[in-house]
Amino acid sequence: MKTFRNFVAGEWVAPASGEYFDNVNPADRNDTIGRFPLSNSEDLERAVVSAQRGFELWKRTPAPERGDVLRHVGDIMTRRKEELADLMTREMGKPLTETRGDVQEGIDTAYYAASEGRRLFGKTVPSEMRNKWAMSYRRPIGVAGIITPFNFPMAIPTWKMFPALVCGNSCIFKPAEDVPHTATALVEIFLEAGLPPEVIQLLHGAGEVVGKAIVEHPSIPLISFTGSTETGSQVGATCGRMHKRLSLEMGGKNAQIVLDDADLDLAIEGVLWGAFGTTGQRCTATSRLILQSRIHDQFLGMLLDRARAMKLGDGRKKGTDVGPLINEAALRKVENYIDIGQAEGADLLCGGRRGQGRDLEAGYFYEPTIFARVEAGSRLEQEEIFGPVLSVVRVQTAAEAFAVNNGVKYGLSSSVYTRDVQVAFQALQDLDNGITYINAPTIGAEAHLPFGGVKQTGNGHREGGWEVYEFYSETKVGYVDFSGTLQRAQIDNYQGSAD
Ligand code: NAD
Repeated sequence: MKTFRNFVAGEWVAPASGEYFDNVNPADRNDTIGRFPLSNSEDLERAVVSAQRGFELWKRTPAPERGDVLRHVGDIMTRRKEELADLMTREMGKPLTETRGDVQEGIDTAYYAASEGRRLFGKTVPSEMRNKWAMSYRRPIGVAGIITPFNFPMAIPTWKMFPALVCGNSCIFKPAEDVPHTATALVEIFLEAGLPPEVIQLLHGAGEVVGKAIVEHPSIPLISFTGSTETGSQVGATCGRMHKRLSLEMGGKNAQIVLDDADLDLAIEGVLWGAFGTTGQRCTATSRLILQSRIHDQFLGMLLDRARAMKLGDGRKKGTDVGPLINEAALRKVENYIDIGQAEGADLLCGGRRGQGRDLEAGYFYEPTIFARVEAGSRLEQEEIFGPVLSVVRVQTAAEAFAVNNGVKYGLSSSVYTRDVQVAFQALQDLDNGITYINAPTIGAEAHLPFGGVKQTGNGHREGGWEVYEFYSETKVGYVDFSGTLQRAQIDNYQGSAD
């Protein structure tokens, strides 16, 4: 079996502990991909010292030149797309059509970042004084700690590291334990593209050990974390205490609303993709379906037929619609919520059991599951499950649907199917989410727009698009007074009228 390494101080190295963990294919427990390092604070210490050297070099590299490295990264990812998708499906489980999309998101982010190296705009504004200039500009911050989840093994690390690097920071990358192979491939690509080796450090291992150590390290001033709200709270508490710059992207409990006037065929396609794509393991997954009463029964009938027909299987095999869950713990969590739903009196209409059949025995498969008659406010309706479980809530009016959508602690994504333009704009205005889709599912963010959520989904920052560059750079202001005299600011010579 292949033994993989960390990338620290410009070399592929074994962990200080000498210990490793197995990376297993979730579609087949008997298929072990390799052994990956269990890193600790000793590995981190070396990585930080090296990343600081990398930062000193990289911050002096002109931003357009930094962008060129990212363009080259995009070219290599394009060339290796098929191979990357295959290795990602093997360790993460989602079908190849989805892992290709995951790689493509990285490619799009690379080309966006490359061109941003020629912008990174500051502003020049008029001064209050004569013969004085005033301007703002961006500076890199330092060593960025990058902590990522398992569900988008390529896209999420690229969302974070590409802008971090274009802004001139160096990165210490700690990927999720379930997807270390994709992370290793990404670091190989950085190196092939010409990134100076000390600008990137890769540490594999347990979140509670090396992830926590990164968050607590005093020489890492910048943390970008995507993962569960529970872990994010711990990360946030530490960063608050240590005055670190922090971006949090966390859980969701997203709803698709289907109103009486909707195109039902279109809405069916949306909910199947939103709820069961990526086996429900997307932060933007459709976990609640809010149906207006007149179309409720008809829509549910149409949906059940389609959900029952979805094919569970190995994501690397043709014809698979739904891959496995990521691991045993995820499977148990889903099973626990099936018990909770039944105890709360919801109607289990389909699924509710592990994947059946010999092909599925060795993997973490769970059937697409639909609960109807789910009460707003119940645990099934409120809590993130992160699996192929859809809860259907019946409402009388659009206003009630909006209130149910807003009645959870999360606020990532929402979707409304309607033909009424007034209701559509009302939804864009009133739904408490970072993203609202009209006549499209809750999933499907594009790389060049800001991405993130409100309430307990995030902490106010956005990934993607133009906004993320603000997070990875510090604004500095410069004044140049060429008047040759002392000019006092804050308009203390203001001549305005007091009466
Ligand atoms: P997780 O919170 O278990 O782990 C995320 C990362 O944090 C992993 O790399 C893990 O090793 C690390 N980690 C764990 N404990 C840590 C600690 N104490 N200190 C520092 N790091 C630690 O999440 P997951 O199961 O990998 O991912 C699923 C979650 O991520 C879901 O809640 C999902 O909604 C969320 N998610 C959110 C977004 C978004 O953009 N809002 C995107 C994808 C996933």
